Amino acid sequence: RIAYVNGTYQPHSGATVHIEDRGFQFADGVYEVWSVFDGKLADFEGHMTRLARSLTELRIPIPMTAQALERVLKETIRRNRVRNGIVYLQVTRGTSPRDHAFPQDTPPSVIVTSKTIDLAKGEALAAKGAAGVTMPDIRWGRCDIKTVGLLPNVLAKQAAREKGAYECLMVDEMGLVTEGSSTNAWIVDEDGKLRTRDTQANILRGITRTAILKLAEAEGIELDERPFSVDEAKRAREVFVTAASSFVMPIVSLDGAKIADGKPGPVATRLREVYLEQARREAI
Ligand code: PMP
Repeated sequence: RIAYVNGTYQPHSGATVHIEDRGFQFADGVYEVWSVFDGKLADFEGHMTRLARSLTELRIPIPMTAQALERVLKETIRRNRVRNGIVYLQVTRGTSPRDHAFPQDTPPSVIVTSKTIDLAKGEALAAKGAAGVTMPDIRWGRCDIKTVGLLPNVLAKQAAREKGAYECLMVDEMGLVTEGSSTNAWIVDEDGKLRTRDTQANILRGITRTAILKLAEAEGIELDERPFSVDEAKRAREVFVTAASSFVMPIVSLDGAKIADGKPGPVATRLREVYLEQARREAI
């Protein structure tokens, strides 16, 4: 495998950044993940726009033009011979002697990796449906920024793994679901309305979430962009999560309780199908 590190392509096994990289010491950096279909980038523009916003919010300089970045992403995909998988980009505030305040005139660090993902495995899980658990959301107040500061998300995902579940839905102090540890969360409620939390709340504006909102509208599915509680999720007709790397994943049990009949529902199944079709067709 090959990784891009600050201007050079290196063997993945020995690719390193400095011990005083601010990503390492302060989680002072941001990232994006694109899915790759047939060697091409899905929703290139959507992720680029969010990347620029994350960098601007944290006042990290934009490291290179969008065209240059596109070339690096594609070259990393090509050198790794990835047909279907993901490409990961991380930009940190760079390497500088440890001090909380920003360094001056330090170039950002940029790394890119890419790996193959077995799409058949995801398809098999989606056909069967995945398990979910819930935990309190213990994150900071700027979850709209896609930072590499992911410790609460790591703890939530680990809790899911230890319970044999696929994803952990994080819950605010009102008992309302914010989002998954690495996904946005959705239900089809008892009235048949598609619900997902609005982005006024402290959540990440998922690129897949935005795509699914548009597709649901095109499919004539009634939408209600409003938070839902854990109880509402447990009583829902369907629960599912979305992300660039898992597309649309039906959740068929929550904290051990079956959702509806315990099988993936028609809305999640249909949205997964149309999402994948569009993402493949529009990949560049
Ligand atoms: N929420 C969180 C906390 C995430 O980490 C992710 C995936 N990075 C998402 C939602 C889904 O975002 P996207 O659809 O852009 O992958």
